[in-house]
Amino acid sequence: MELPAPEQLKQSLYVPNKTLMGPGPSNCTQRVLDSLSNPVLGHMHPECFEIMDDIKAGVKYLFQTKNTATMCISGSGTAGMETAFVNLVEDGDVVLLACTGLWGYRAAEMVKRLNGDVRYVESRFGHALSLKEIEFAFEGHKPQVFFIAQGDSSTGILQPQLKEIGELCEKYKCLFVVDTVASLGGVEFLMDAWKVDMAYTGSQKVLGAPAGITPVSFSDRAIARIRARKSYVKSYYFDALLVGQCWNCFDTPRIYHHTISSTLLYGLREALAQFCALGRKNVIHRHQECSHRLQCGVEEIGLEMFVVKANDRLPTVNTIKVPAGVEWQKVSQYAMRKYKLEISGGLGPTVDQVFRIGLMGANATYERVDLVLNILHEAIQSTKFVEK
Ligand code: PMP
Repeated sequence: MELPAPEQLKQSLYVPNKTLMGPGPSNCTQRVLDSLSNPVLGHMHPECFEIMDDIKAGVKYLFQTKNTATMCISGSGTAGMETAFVNLVEDGDVVLLACTGLWGYRAAEMVKRLNGDVRYVESRFGHALSLKEIEFAFEGHKPQVFFIAQGDSSTGILQPQLKEIGELCEKYKCLFVVDTVASLGGVEFLMDAWKVDMAYTGSQKVLGAPAGITPVSFSDRAIARIRARKSYVKSYYFDALLVGQCWNCFDTPRIYHHTISSTLLYGLREALAQFCALGRKNVIHRHQECSHRLQCGVEEIGLEMFVVKANDRLPTVNTIKVPAGVEWQKVSQYAMRKYKLEISGGLGPTVDQVFRIGLMGANATYERVDLVLNILHEAIQSTKFVEK
């Protein structure tokens, strides 16, 4: 029997307009949204190549790198993470994963699938790692690859001292991989100056483009390591040497590898164009000012930040302790129902313990900070458990 066409697809599409102040995605600007309705182009058309070149230039500025192997992966931030490990890890390689929240453990799930030898260096709950802790772990494990999330969006922890960590990696002849999905554009990041070998970021956070296309960059050292592999990269789709040929990274003719979404290219190009026009230092400064305002407001309404030291707080994803007598789900539902505003709960190690408030891209403004503070306060007052 032939299946009939589903009834629900006879209804027209309805998408509500929400204010996205969770850990991501953030709202796109009108310029980015408008770009998405351009005609679809073929990914091998010269106009698309030109857009890809524009994106590459923007991504190099974003990461502050001259790496020729700068490209985008078709997939969300997780695809960037998978690209890092699938290219840089071979059977038995020791991979040291820094854990300041969920993301180090997520990385472990990937490294284990590649038969990497997973080791951890874990921070105290609510704290960044100290250089001493990291150096101690280097001495003990002698890793070939070291991974850290500059900003861990599950805990709201910012890992400072990446420059010094880069020096440690150089000393121990170890590749340095940095996840900047939740941090880039909200805090300083200097890929070349800090000797980072592989970095990836998200399109849907500070940049405010749709998810599904992820900027990544490999240092020459990382590319040399990939070229010297004894075994094939265990993913065809995420093979950096192949994807890099689509993105004209290696002075070889562009190849067809997979169909890159031209629509996602438009969105990312426009998001990068806006970022460049504003200037990275200004964007970073704005995010820090907004987070500072939020942190002051949090204190004023009697709440407490989760991350102990102010210097270890990520300005883009702000974690606030859920006070006693308050259920975060009720607060979150109240904000969404009444104001179409997203306030998230914790993730991984912070489940049920924190609210997560994203101040990213178009939502990193004083107006949005005040809005989210007012709504958070009202939602807590309206939903909290009152003892009789
Ligand atoms: N790393 C970090 C630090 C993140 O915050 C996220 C997304 N929240 C990811 C990786 C994964 O990105 P995505 O959800 O886009 O796959």
